[in-house]
Amino acid sequence: MTDAFSLPPEAAEPHLSVAARALGLLRTVPALAPRYADRPADLTTLDELAALPPLVKDDLNVALAHLEPRAATGATWLFQSGGSTGAPKVGYAPTGFYMAGVHAHWQPLDRDDTFVNAWGAGRMWGAHFLAAALADLAGCRVIALGSVTREEYGDWLGFLADQRATAIGGTPSVLRLWFAHARAAGLKLPALRKVLWLGEAWQPQLAEDIAAVAPQARRWGMFGSTETWVVGTNTPDCPADTFHPLPEQLVHVGPDGLLDFTTLNPEMLNPVLRYRTGDAGELTSCPCGRPGRAMRVLGRRDSVVQVRGLGLHVDELVARAEREPGVSRAQVVITEHGGRATGVDVLLLTHGSGGPGTAGEAAVDTARLRTELLSATFTLSTAFQHDPENFRVRAVEELVSNDRTGKTAGFVVRAADEEDA
Ligand SMILES: [Zn+2]
Repeated sequence: MTDAFSLPPEAAEPHLSVAARALGLLRTVPALAPRYADRPADLTTLDELAALPPLVKDDLNVALAHLEPRAATGATWLFQSGGSTGAPKVGYAPTGFYMAGVHAHWQPLDRDDTFVNAWGAGRMWGAHFLAAALADLAGCRVIALGSVTREEYGDWLGFLADQRATAIGGTPSVLRLWFAHARAAGLKLPALRKVLWLGEAWQPQLAEDIAAVAPQARRWGMFGSTETWVVGTNTPDCPADTFHPLPEQLVHVGPDGLLDFTTLNPEMLNPVLRYRTGDAGELTSCPCGRPGRAMRVLGRRDSVVQVRGLGLHVDELVARAEREPGVSRAQVVITEHGGRATGVDVLLLTHGSGGPGTAGEAAVDTARLRTELLSATFTLSTAFQHDPENFRVRAVEELVSNDRTGKTAGFVVRAADEEDA
């Protein structure tokens, strides 16, 4: 089974003492100890690692709340690590954010660059700070911009052009705002060569705006999570969904193509041992020609939710709705009562006619779209065979978003009581 790992046994096994230490720590967590009780205390082979139970986000949060790790030297930083309601769950990292290991294998920035760090700073988000650590290692100029408001894009773009910015980094959603604003305003960033990204899948629509605004610029991607930190990187010569894992990150492909990650970095504070981010993927060779196993990320498997005992592929449903002319975003809301789905709503954010109260209803034929979605989606047509009226498609003024994180998920599950309230 070792071909399901990103590294061959001879490269990974000498470093499994790090994984064995994580296992030892997890055994001390009362809520997690039972699942490791019948496992051998030591960990020396990839087969032994593959036999351990995987961790999910909640498990790691439980472990960290118990372990409260501290960096050996320097500061211990607390970062947001998920949690959909209430207070943020916490992940930890030492100053430096493990970026020396990234920089050893991936150098998108050099001393001559002027790098615009457009990842949001503050609110315990990590990306801005890890990008700053990378810039530090590159020795370039840094413009620590963070997030700006809609009215500010024009002035800042003028400033960045004056400064002859050569590189910018952000999440693809934020980069889209920057490049779309620049394109709409006819502004150019002629010196820009590099677009660094992390935090979401690459958005192909970005290529068009970048070509208009900064024709010389090419994309440089990082893949990771708040728990694992940066797992892999790619270059303009790699497909946007394919990353080269760092040697200190062991990637494993489990059942259903679910990826899990094990750190081989002795400085890692989070006990990342077969940690599942919810992403599915496969190990492959990269067309860029770099040897070794690359990781192709195929999207999130946790977007499959159970509706009346059937798996509903929420991403597919959202994608189909978003292909409808006039729809800018779609969201699936599943209403449950006593653990059973009583209804499924597809909410549509439309850009068309509208104005308050009408929500662009006239622009999108929601009745026809509903019929199409129902007949094309086996899970829906089967699950709502006897009460098809409980599958609804409607245009709305706003999607349901998480007030604390500002994120709008592709799907939301809510209790029937909330709907009645
Ligand atoms: Zn490649």
